[in-house]
Amino acid sequence: MKNNHIGRIVRVEANMIAVAFEQPVMQNEVAFVLHGQERLKCEVIRVRGNIAELQVFESTVGLKVGEQVEFSGEFLSVELGPGLLGQIFDGLQNPLPLLAQKAGFFLKRGIYLSALPDDIEWEFTPLVKPKDRVGPGQYLGFVPEKLFKHYIMPPFFLQGFAEVQEVAQAGKYNIKQRIAVLKDSNNREIEVFLSQSWPVKIPIRGYVEKLRPKEPLVTKMRIIDTFFPLALGGTYCLPGPFGAGKTVLQQLISRHVEADIVIIAACGERAGEVVETLKTFPVLIDPRTKRPLIERTIIICNTSSMPVAARESSVYTAVTIAEYYRQMGLHVLLLADSTSRWAQAMREISGRLEEIPGEEAFPAYLESRIASFYERAGLVRLFNGSLGSVTIGGTVSPAGGNFEEPVTQATLKVVGAFHGLSRERSDARRYPAVDPLISWSKYPSFIPKEKRELGYRILVKSYEVVQMMKVIGEEGISLKDYVDYLKGEFLDFVYLQQNAFDEVDGATPKERQVYVFDFIVKILEADFEFSDKQEALHFFQRLRQLFNDWNTSVWQSDGFRSCQQEISVLLEQKVKKTDIKDEPEIL
Ligand code: ADP
Ligand code: MG
Repeated sequence: MKNNHIGRIVRVEANMIAVAFEQPVMQNEVAFVLHGQERLKCEVIRVRGNIAELQVFESTVGLKVGEQVEFSGEFLSVELGPGLLGQIFDGLQNPLPLLAQKAGFFLKRGIYLSALPDDIEWEFTPLVKPKDRVGPGQYLGFVPEKLFKHYIMPPFFLQGFAEVQEVAQAGKYNIKQRIAVLKDSNNREIEVFLSQSWPVKIPIRGYVEKLRPKEPLVTKMRIIDTFFPLALGGTYCLPGPFGAGKTVLQQLISRHVEADIVIIAACGERAGEVVETLKTFPVLIDPRTKRPLIERTIIICNTSSMPVAARESSVYTAVTIAEYYRQMGLHVLLLADSTSRWAQAMREISGRLEEIPGEEAFPAYLESRIASFYERAGLVRLFNGSLGSVTIGGTVSPAGGNFEEPVTQATLKVVGAFHGLSRERSDARRYPAVDPLISWSKYPSFIPKEKRELGYRILVKSYEVVQMMKVIGEEGISLKDYVDYLKGEFLDFVYLQQNAFDEVDGATPKERQVYVFDFIVKILEADFEFSDKQEALHFFQRLRQLFNDWNTSVWQSDGFRSCQQEISVLLEQKVKKTDIKDEPEIL
């Protein structure tokens, strides 16, 4: 397969070069510009006649017409194997901390490091023996990696079955040592190592079937889980204007979500934000395992100061790694922040190729690229019967917060849930600033539909009353409407909003959401006896205070019970007696 032949640069234009070649060149093939001592990585993005156009993953300063380019005969690929967890990579899978040691942060070009440490010895346990038949995605053995069993599989390019010829004994091996030899149906020998490489733009398909996502993926963010839930293997989009809280919300989700592994593609945001992620993550403690959160996280990051092509590749690197861990029967959440930067990279590349532009100068294939990225999410049944999933969430940062723009629109067509952040909510510091009036989800919630709909109706009603009050003032509103307004505000403050800085309130597990929401629904349904608006206002203010205390008290603790007791006493005074049919039980 390898040809390693040479072409010559005929044109240099920003991060693109045109190269004249003689032997066949493939679309998406990797090549290297040979510039003095430097080897600069590029990818073929268009072939016309005997001219290939390549995007260079590095600064092209100093490159000249006539310089040599070596074609590798291989697609842009990632290394998949033990040692990925806990790492921070750039879009080409260079470990960033190592790169920084070697070259100064984001500075020197042409330095590529191996993604996986080759000096670590992994304790390998074989699961097959000679003469066994293995198919794609089946397990040959495993090594322990952090909290997981990292299964070693035949190369994913394997078609049909192969027979095990040799397999290594239990023991310690590094990623360079061969651990098995297989023979495929064409009698070709295939060597297996602890790691394998795979082209990033091709989905890994080592499973029996894709299933419809239906199990909720619990994030412990109440507004999401209760009203606009995610599903294992589903997709969602998180658009919002600059500063509305997209990145903070993604980070909160990555901390608290009930997924095994979280992969963060921090693509193309300002360097400062990326550095922030790099600083905060390694010190965070996983609330579930009490171990460093980074142990079940992989971060792929690029800043807007990195070359455009590297930005474009980072989401593919991330999703390929996600698919790889899905093959092990794990649930992986991939968070891409922000996909707008990724789309801008596509736009720049397309512009340089002088392609016919679509809307707002994005390429005509923007929609299909976005769709095929999100299509790599999914819940799958593996060959051993167990399930694995990749859930993808992408933030979108549309200029001026205008959701009509092409990237938001193309994303909305393909995702299963939409969490729209609004400037209005973030300005009012109503966090998370997910706007309940514009957000939606097609996935099932663990809260019954009637209860959610009741909550939603109250929010809509409350919003309408606010609009009315803006026109005719508070005096013009009936007491009943006013109480509906207060109910909506109450639901917003004590349930939709969550204090990220409070250990208890910051993350609400499923059973607590079910219990508390049930209680809230009874309050929303109740008829109250108020003599005037003033009294109603004071009542709800007091109720809100009590709920704030309740929200910050540990689930089922004494404090939790006594808060609830106090709330019940307060309600007792004002709720019309006939109304509460079944009094909520005190735990
Ligand atoms: P975006 O990614 O949408 O541009 P960020 O996530 O960076 O916005 O948020 C901008 C700022 O808003 C944060 O630095 C923080 O001060 C504030 N913020 C966002 N979300 C929250 C939250 N849940 N709780 C408290 N402050 C928040
Ligand atoms: Mg951000």
